[in-house]
Amino acid sequence: MANIHYDSELFRSKGDEIMHVKKVDHIGIAVRSIEKALPFYTDVLRLPFLGIEEVESEQVKVAFLQAGEAKIELLEPLSPESAIAKFIEKRGEGIHHVALGVDDITERIRELKEHGIRMIQEMPKRGAGGAWVAFMHPKSTGGVLYELCERSNMEGQQ
Ligand code: ZN
Repeated sequence: MANIHYDSELFRSKGDEIMHVKKVDHIGIAVRSIEKALPFYTDVLRLPFLGIEEVESEQVKVAFLQAGEAKIELLEPLSPESAIAKFIEKRGEGIHHVALGVDDITERIRELKEHGIRMIQEMPKRGAGGAWVAFMHPKSTGGVLYELCERSNMEGQQ
């Protein structure tokens, strides 16, 4: 964790003023095939299936399942060039990222950069479900790929 420059004491005392993480929005899981992975989640764990969509810009197919307060996001590569294909090739299927639900993502990105956190996206982009997302570089976070995720109020109500 040597790359994290912020002072943890400062974060603790000013937590409400600095970072506004509302919850873990979802966990992203890289899978070779959503069709093959899905029965475990729907039939064994009996998680409600929320929907499936293709995110063309990322070359992934995405399925969402509700797991209590949080969601599970299954990510299937649509082409060998997609980041998910490369991840699976290198590390196999499994946990890909943790998404933190925030308000005002642009401001959150600014704060993180102020604390020396390297962002993969310096500007939020459109992700699955119409959410605004931006990823932190794992080199800045102790090896975890964190996604910031901002959903509109209506989507947040579900
Ligand atoms: Zn995600």
